[in-house]
Amino acid sequence: MSDLPVRAQLAAALGRTASKMSRLAGRGDGSVIGGRVGLALDPELLRRLAADRRLVLVSATNGKTTTTRLIASALRVRGDVATNAFGANMPSGHVLALAQAPTAPYAVLECDEKYVPMVLAETGAGIVALMNLSRDQMDRAAEIWLLAGKWRKALDGAATHVVANCDDPLVTWGAGAAKSVTWVSAGQHWREDSWCCPECGGPLDREGVHWKCRECHFARPKPDWILHADRITTPRGRTYELSLQLPGRANRSNAVIALAVAAQLGLEPEEVLPRLAEVTSVAGRYTTVEHQGRQLRLLLAKNPAGWLEAFDVLAPPPGPVALSINAQGPDGRDTSWLWDVDYRVLRGRPVWATGERRLDLAARLEAADVRFTIVEDIDEAIMAVGPGRLDVIANYTAFQQIRTRYGRVV
Ligand SMILES: [Zn+2]
Repeated sequence: MSDLPVRAQLAAALGRTASKMSRLAGRGDGSVIGGRVGLALDPELLRRLAADRRLVLVSATNGKTTTTRLIASALRVRGDVATNAFGANMPSGHVLALAQAPTAPYAVLECDEKYVPMVLAETGAGIVALMNLSRDQMDRAAEIWLLAGKWRKALDGAATHVVANCDDPLVTWGAGAAKSVTWVSAGQHWREDSWCCPECGGPLDREGVHWKCRECHFARPKPDWILHADRITTPRGRTYELSLQLPGRANRSNAVIALAVAAQLGLEPEEVLPRLAEVTSVAGRYTTVEHQGRQLRLLLAKNPAGWLEAFDVLAPPPGPVALSINAQGPDGRDTSWLWDVDYRVLRGRPVWATGERRLDLAARLEAADVRFTIVEDIDEAIMAVGPGRLDVIANYTAFQQIRTRYGRVV
């Protein structure tokens, strides 16, 4: 960092100060404002701060915050890691993460899907991890085929190594233009956005995890890493048991991507697996909070694929669940996505519906023949459930509200 021009040093320092003041004023974790101040003073700041580091970008519709955390945990075996741990995943967040750890030799940055080309160009990231693409916030996010196309164009000719989930056809297509790719069979459970070939528009034939286009050459590449249930097979054919504290198959997918990225940086699974096993929650997700004799487990689900993964980790036997839905800016204002989620899996559980858009949720649950109770807020659900366990699934701002209320446990 001391090699930076004076203007860039000043921009980074002022960005850190702005961020601290924003935090003191109680306005979030301050990453965005601090980074914005820095970039306004020096538009080249991201490029300068990224120079001379081994940098990993992580992008996907779902799982990028968790995977970023897993990779960062793994790399700490080797040295300091700059990372945007709280999901400020646009350039302003990247600037602050790098400015806060000026001497860290490694950086792991979660990146919003549409910013991948720009941030790759600015940072010259040596590794890009791409995991899944599915419908998300349809009133404001780009159509995912267009996003994958932008990834493809950005990676064509770039001097970067890609680690990509070959079970997701759209990700495979987006990653396919890269010079070198590690293919990871990390699974794909939400398939409603990948019935057509991204290359030609023809139908994709599927058998298990395998897929290929009926009309052109496009097919699933042979994976280097394979996740099968809770076992991982490496490119050299060795197998390892995956033992995580983070629950569910989505986190096993995130973990195998983290292992493949770490391997690319020279870390063996023996070194990485114990670090992955230490992670218990990520930015409040999967946290269990004690409140009035109840154990609340907080699950974030922002889009249909995310809901499918949240249902996967619901506690057996069928216990109570509270669902909270908002439709503020960061959630997407359009709640029509609720109709893409198959809520029938909640039949037989006591269900509470809350959040600012609880009536939209109620209409959806009613159509799915799920019995539920509408409550004003999450407190009412908690008091109704009685002592014991309650799983809470919420979308973005609803999750943040609940997390703020019961303590910002990380
Ligand atoms: Zn095709």
